[in-house]
Amino acid sequence: MSHPTSARLTIDLDALAHNFAVLRAEAPGAEAAPVIKADGYGLGAAPLARRLWAEGARGFFVARLSEGEALRAALGADHPATIYVLDGFLAGSGARLAAARLTPVLSSLPQIEAATTFAAASGQPLAVALQVDTGMNRQGLTLAETQAVAQSGDRLRGLQVCVIMSHLGSATDPADPRNTLQRERFAQVRRLFPQARASFAASAGIMLGPDYRNDIIRPGISLYGGGPEERPDPRLRAVAKLEAPILYIRNVEPGELIGYGSNTRIEKPTRIAIVGAGYADGVIRASKGKGYGWLAGARRPVIIVTMDLIALEIGDAPARIGDWVELLGPNVLLDEIATAAGTVAHECLVRLSGRAERIYLGEV
Ligand SMILES: *Cc1c(COP(=O)(O)O)cnc(C)c1O
Repeated sequence: MSHPTSARLTIDLDALAHNFAVLRAEAPGAEAAPVIKADGYGLGAAPLARRLWAEGARGFFVARLSEGEALRAALGADHPATIYVLDGFLAGSGARLAAARLTPVLSSLPQIEAATTFAAASGQPLAVALQVDTGMNRQGLTLAETQAVAQSGDRLRGLQVCVIMSHLGSATDPADPRNTLQRERFAQVRRLFPQARASFAASAGIMLGPDYRNDIIRPGISLYGGGPEERPDPRLRAVAKLEAPILYIRNVEPGELIGYGSNTRIEKPTRIAIVGAGYADGVIRASKGKGYGWLAGARRPVIIVTMDLIALEIGDAPARIGDWVELLGPNVLLDEIATAAGTVAHECLVRLSGRAERIYLGEV
């Protein structure tokens, strides 16, 4: 009898569509423009985007120029989406941005200059978004720069500012006063560009309430099932399910060591399942001792994580070689695993871009 030996990643696009509907209902009247940077948080930007288009999405955000080009190619001429590139207009990238009809998110004065120079040379108006830094201190024009740019029309010559946007630094903590501060600053900035649509909230910002939603919301992690601040949101469904088969079952005696090195000592008689997935498949190594898998209707603690194999303590669970163990999914919540591994849900997802065999459900 032959058994499966390696991990499989199931990406449930019906769950994605459900989450998209939940977020749209949360922000009625706003456009929801999915964020599918880093190859759709590791889940595959092309199938995600095609399904989201079918659900009504017409704008998408990516980070890199190359991601925008790949997405344009994947969507093809019959899905003429607006694709925003968060990296903006890097010097020399004009021809590529134009060829793929990408909308750069301009985030500095040099980017604005490069874009106006390109627009002048091409003789075509260039549609852009402008990003303003309202307090996160990562990316975007300062408030003074924004004011200066808005007041001298010349500095935006040839550019069509379609969207004015900013990004929240503390949205996962609704009580943080930085949220109010950023919101007030963003309201000032909006007034400088009355014709542009405004975009402020990513996943956590959407949940801060109507004052934060504006014209375009930019959900990323919540589309994939992650709740704000690594707290599961029961309205959202898991999109990614990682499973792996049991390869070996063994009994380990007290005093034995397990895995590499000498720091994982077994204290009591322990029944262990060795499962065919590891950090090369996206199981975060730091989840050892805190994470869990799901087998036979219960949680099973993760004892060690190596590159290709992990060990789970399975007690007296009914378990056989070849049985599938869920390592992430509807029963092993993204947010809990992120917390166990000391990271954020975003990082847990992008790690899945590894080796596991992929299955898409609900593809269009
Ligand atoms: C990544 C990103 C988002 C999406 O963030 P989530 O927390 O995944 O919703 C939105 N806007 C900007 C500018 C981003 O960089």
